Formats: sequence, structure tokens, C-alpha cells
Amino acid sequence: MGKVAIVTGGSRGIGRAICLSLAQAGYQVVVNYFGNAAAASETVDLIHAGTASQAVAIQADVGSETDRKVLLEKTLERFQRIDFLVNNAGISSIGRKDILEADEASWDRVFSTNLKGPYFLSQAVANWMIAHASVVEKPGIINISSLSAVSASLNRGDYCIAKAGMTMMTQLFALRLAEHGIRVWDVRPGIIDTDMTAGARDKYLKKIEEGLIPIPRMGAADDVGSVVAWLATSPMTYSTGDVINVDGGYHLRKL
Ligand code: NAP
Repeated sequence: MGKVAIVTGGSRGIGRAICLSLAQAGYQVVVNYFGNAAAASETVDLIHAGTASQAVAIQADVGSETDRKVLLEKTLERFQRIDFLVNNAGISSIGRKDILEADEASWDRVFSTNLKGPYFLSQAVANWMIAHASVVEKPGIINISSLSAVSASLNRGDYCIAKAGMTMMTQLFALRLAEHGIRVWDVRPGIIDTDMTAGARDKYLKKIEEGLIPIPRMGAADDVGSVVAWLATSPMTYSTGDVINVDGGYHLRKL
């Protein structure tokens, strides 16, 4: 059995592209999803049709402790090992309300999915990797944060703060896991064309036309997927904790 990667939120969008890229790179893939079983099984089918890798869809809410346990148990039952974790699952701010109007229900959902889930899933996977160091190969964790970790959107305060927290989470786990050879990276997408951005697509396209992004287009899910697979398979064995921007140069300041 080859190397195994768990990708949270692998059913759609960026997560699906990550699953496909990792499968093309030779990983067996666990396609985690929340509610969209049909999309998850489509990702599995695409992997089986287009690559020599094996894949399985596993339902789990990353924000639930019980579900995270099930995710690991089923992964190990099917593949017996975990070499890589991609914390990709995420949701946007519910209702996208101004920070003077935003409610706690959105805060709780966003923090549970975008920060608490990745934090404790990383903890569980890292402990498994440490306990099975002789089995795992080039182990690593990639956190899919966002340009929102450093770029303020007043109608998505909870999302921005959770993503900023994820950036610190990357530093913490990178430091803690370095001695165990487990590398941890923060892959930071810009504006990517997926279901998450569909509602604001026209607004973003107009801003891009007006010069918002140096590489003047929305990103495609595969722009992120291919970077994740490249990191997972790259010779970067003496690097950890870095932020990799996949944002068309959005983060560059200009005057
Ligand atoms: P998307 O198209 O909305 O897909 C979200 C994925 O997350 C789906 O697979 C969904 O599963 C899964 N998910 C949602 N809640 C979950 C939960 N509680 N437990 C497990 N899985 C859950 O989003 P996307 O645009 O691909 O975004 C993926 C990641 O990239 C997110 O972390 C997002 O914050 C980040 N990001 C996106 C952009 C962008 O412009 N799109 C930019 C920066 C960062 P179901 O299909 O089952 O619902």
C-alpha cells in the first residue's frame, strides 16, 4: 500500500482538486466530506478513472470530536497508515454580516469548522504519525488558510480571525513536530473560483478588471491542488512552517 493522504472537504472545489493532484502524485486518498455524499463519490470516481490510486469517501464533520475519531478509524481500517493530512474543509461567514451586526451562531460554526476541527485533527494525526514513525513516509500537514488571514473583510470577521488563527496554528505545529520529521505548511489561497466564491464572483471579476490582482484572473481550484501535491512530494525536507501564497500576487503591496 502506497502513501496515504487525508483531505478534509475533498468533495468539492479546492479540496477535490487537492485530492486529484495527490492521487496523480501516487497517494491513496481519503476524501472527507460533510453533507454532499454525491460530490464526494464523484471525486472518488474521478480518482479511480484517472489515476492508479485508491480512494475512499468518509463522512465526518471536522468540528465534531466523535466524527474526527470515526474519520481516523475508518482511514486506518481501509489503508492502515496516514502520511499526509490536508486541512482544507472550511466555510465562509454565515450571512456575511458587517462586524457590527454579526452573530455568535456564525462565529461558532466558522470557528468549529475552520479552526477547532483542523487543530484537533492535526493533533490526532500527528500523535498517530509519531507513534508509527517507522511506517510513515515524508509525513506532513498542510493547512489551507486564506488571504483573509492577513486581509480584512468587514463582512467576514469570524472567517478572517479563524484563518489568522490557522496561520498561528501552522507555526505552533511546525515547531512542535519538527523533531519528529513532520513538516507543516500554510498554503494561502487568494480568490479561487469555487462554490464558496460563486455569490461574489461578479464583484470579484470587476475588481480584478480594475487591477486587484497582479496576475489578472481568479484562481482555479487546481492552482491550489497542484501546489499541495508539489509540496507533499517535493524535496523540501529541511523546510517547515512556511506560508505559500497561491493568490496571483495579491499579497504584494504597491504604491
Ligand atoms: P467549497 O467549494 O465551499 O467546499 C467546501 C468543502 O468543505 C466541501 O467539500 C464541504 O463538504 C467541506 N466542508 C464544509 N464544512 C465541513 C465540515 N464541518 N466538515 C467536513 N467538511 C466540511 O470551498 P472551497 O472554496 O473549495 O474552499 C476550500 C478551503 O479553501 C476552505 O478552507 C476555504 O476557506 C479556503 N479558501 C477558499 C478560497 C476561495 O476563494 N474559494 C480562498 C481562500 C481560502 P460538502 O461538499 O460535504 O459540503
